[in-house]
Amino acid sequence: MFRASGSKSRLFLATIVTVDPARELQRIYDGEINVRINGLWDCGIEVRLGDEVNGFLAEETFALVDGILPWLQQAIAHFYPASTYAQELDPEVSAAAAKRVFVPPSIGRRVNCPHCGAPNAAPRPMEEFAFICSHCGESVSVGAKQIQ
Ligand SMILES: [Zn+2]
Repeated sequence: MFRASGSKSRLFLATIVTVDPARELQRIYDGEINVRINGLWDCGIEVRLGDEVNGFLAEETFALVDGILPWLQQAIAHFYPASTYAQELDPEVSAAAAKRVFVPPSIGRRVNCPHCGAPNAAPRPMEEFAFICSHCGESVSVGAKQIQ
């Protein structure tokens, strides 16, 4: 990744910021942040933040592997700003993440139980549905406008 500094002055300096993919994925895992990376030729590489039990917060599809880590860093900074991983990110990444609009997941979106607050994966995408909370066992009804 190239980062331009001093771009408003005559002097243009570019420094190379290297990100080691193995190190970053290990740090995300060690930070107890769940992600799914699913490559299916030739539909692209689908990256999702979250998991099948607690639901997904965001998803994106990439044609190139290069896009995965910058997106994951911003998604984690956006949805888990207090996490250790997000706290150690470059402040520029966090600032961009705060403003970025993320695509909501097509399936398995995270819905918090109104009885106990536990996160659950919505069984279906947009319409009204009901499910049993995986944490407290209460029945939860969800209308389209309640899904966020
Ligand atoms: Zn519950």
